[in-house]
Amino acid sequence: MEVKIKKRKAKVTQADCVACGSCVKVCPKGAIRVYKGLYARVDEDLCIGCGRCAAECPAAIIEMEEVAS
Ligand code: SF4
Ligand code: SF4
Repeated sequence: MEVKIKKRKAKVTQADCVACGSCVKVCPKGAIRVYKGLYARVDEDLCIGCGRCAAECPAAIIEMEEVAS
């Protein structure tokens, strides 16, 4: 039987992002970028789920989602 390990990934509510770039600065993996100067986007393949971006976001619009890997 395959064992599934739960991981966390960051998810941005893009409509509410003010594109401040704070999340980009604190991400240790370079997994989050401000796209077209409008909103932040997370590369799920790079995200390790550390939660730093969520803690830093002044708009509190980054949620950590549980995902099965
Ligand atoms: S949870 Fe960590 S690795 Fe993932 S985007 Fe946020 S700061 Fe980067
Ligand atoms: S810290 Fe929050 S508001 Fe600022 S760019 Fe990142 S997701 Fe958007």
